[in-house]
Amino acid sequence: MSTDSISQRISELVTTLSDYNYQYYVLDTPTVPDAEYDRLFRELQALEAQYPDLLNPQSPTQKVGGAALDKFEQVSHEVPMLSLDNAMVEDEFVAFHKRINDRLKTDQIFEFCCEPKLDGLAVSILYEDGKLVRAATRGDGAVGENITENVKTIKSIPLSLIGSSDNGNYPQRVEIRGEVFLSLDGFHAFNQKAKENGTKPMVNPRNGAAGSLRQLDSKISAARPLAFYAYGLGVVSDEFELADTHCERLQQVKSFGLPVCPEITVAKGIEGVLDFYKNISEKRASLNYEIDGTVLKVNDIDLQAELGFVARAPRWAIAYKFPAQEELTVLNDVEFQV
Ligand code: NAD
Repeated sequence: MSTDSISQRISELVTTLSDYNYQYYVLDTPTVPDAEYDRLFRELQALEAQYPDLLNPQSPTQKVGGAALDKFEQVSHEVPMLSLDNAMVEDEFVAFHKRINDRLKTDQIFEFCCEPKLDGLAVSILYEDGKLVRAATRGDGAVGENITENVKTIKSIPLSLIGSSDNGNYPQRVEIRGEVFLSLDGFHAFNQKAKENGTKPMVNPRNGAAGSLRQLDSKISAARPLAFYAYGLGVVSDEFELADTHCERLQQVKSFGLPVCPEITVAKGIEGVLDFYKNISEKRASLNYEIDGTVLKVNDIDLQAELGFVARAPRWAIAYKFPAQEELTVLNDVEFQV
């Protein structure tokens, strides 16, 4: 291919993926299945890696999510909310492990906090003096949407933490990050009702959760069966002593009163992670929520800090996804209901 045609292909992919991003992140109305999006995204990543001079700073490979909608008050994230790099096959996870070894100049076998990859919407919830004071979407990673009133309607999210910060039960100021999702029971019940009433069904639980949460009227969010699992922390005030590993920190978050996914576990090295991946794949069909893979995080927080971040994702974590299930035809004729 000539440089001109490569440049033209890159520009086509940037335009197409930016359009898909807008439909998916801003309007909660995807027009293509994730598998198709992922194929084009990877083609763009490969071309950009091969021809770095043609990298467009506006490329979706350099960005997180989509812009916050104007209809919501905007929230600037004190700690950015990033995306995740992903692996589609075992070899790509092995390559990720090797990249960490190379970067840290060690042949150490790492411990990973292994988590299901929940298919919903990332939110950040701020507690001050134990009270829920603000909740925001990820938005473009730097600025999200203020959805406090909607998040307050989610039954599993406490309005007050357990204990008191004076007694050291939780930090005076703490941002809990996690995924809001729809239970599968809730999703099917909603679509059954929509069918009976002749109203529009939800395309899938992920977009149903996003559309339910990004509503100006919190009564609509309250009527949807939304749930939440915490998987990380943002800002944490200095006086509180956090644990040294990610998994232990999640246990601390649980002790504050937030729900944490019970499937999360610690595993050692490539073998341990592959076992987790296999086990959770087998369990997937019996879970009452959708997952689209696993998230593997280097457990040691000091190592995480040493590894740091690239443009849109941490170097210490990867989403090892399940093979795609959707085909292009699935979305045909299905409109999204908010
Ligand atoms: P991502 O979903 O691949 O990974 C980051 C997100 O994972 C986080 O923001 C968080 O919300 C979520 N997550 C779930 N469980 C987690 C856990 N245990 N720990 C940490 N994070 C966890 O990245 P993304 O940027 O949110 O989305 C990209 C994906 O979205 C694409 O791969 C594609 O499948 C889909 N997408 C589809 C379209 C479309 O048109 N169909 C458009 C854009 C994006």
